[in-house]
Amino acid sequence: MSRICNQCGEEMLEDCEIGMRWKIEDIIISKEFRGFLSNKKAKLKAAVCTSCGNVTFYIDEYKEFKDA
Ligand SMILES: [Zn+2]
Repeated sequence: MSRICNQCGEEMLEDCEIGMRWKIEDIIISKEFRGFLSNKKAKLKAAVCTSCGNVTFYIDEYKEFKDA
C-alpha cells in the first residue's frame, strides 16, 4: 500500500533516510509499555512527495505499538 500525499494526493516516495548533520545516532521512536522488557522502538523514516515537496514521517513497526 503506497503512501499518498495529504497536500496534493500524489503517490509519495517512501524509505527516504533522515540525516542529521551533527549526530551519528539514528532517530528512533520509542514507548515503554508495562515496563522495560516490552519497550517498543522503531526507526523514523520519511516519505517525500515528488510532486509538491511535502515530507511526512512514519515508522514501519507501527503494529508493534498497537499490540503492546
Ligand atoms: Zn504532494
